Amino acid sequence: MYQTGSCQCGKINYSFKQEDVLSAHHCHCKDCQRATGCGKATIIYIPNKKLKIDGDVKFYESKGSMGTTIRRGFCDICGSGIVSYAKELPMIKFIKAGTLDYSSWLKVESSFFAKSSADWNAPDENIKSFEGNPNMLSNIKNVFKSL
Ligand SMILES: [Zn+2]
Ligand SMILES: [Zn+2]
Repeated sequence: MYQTGSCQCGKINYSFKQEDVLSAHHCHCKDCQRATGCGKATIIYIPNKKLKIDGDVKFYESKGSMGTTIRRGFCDICGSGIVSYAKELPMIKFIKAGTLDYSSWLKVESSFFAKSSADWNAPDENIKSFEGNPNMLSNIKNVFKSL
């Protein structure tokens, strides 16, 4: 089943097949808090080649906690954050779950960066929680080896 999403103004649209989703996570890191203006970002891991994006995405680059360069993609008209990825690992994209047209199907696996979570948006106690980044990049590399 295809899932679709867009930024607020509709200049950027994307689609992917639901079954191609690798996983979904809440990230409570400070950068995600700033980028979203919320207590966390909820992100969907999807292989780049399975993701179709239309529209001109602008990127803001910063250093991630693991020394990687994180590129956060947004719409330069409405400012919505849509997609991000680690420059060193461009084969995986992270879609911001809130930009989906319909997202009730999504199952969030775990929370990252519980240590920087806000008291008013504590990590979900019903799912696994990591203090920091659970060695995400090597996990993804393992996923790709097994594909
Ligand atoms: Zn827009
Ligand atoms: Zn984050």
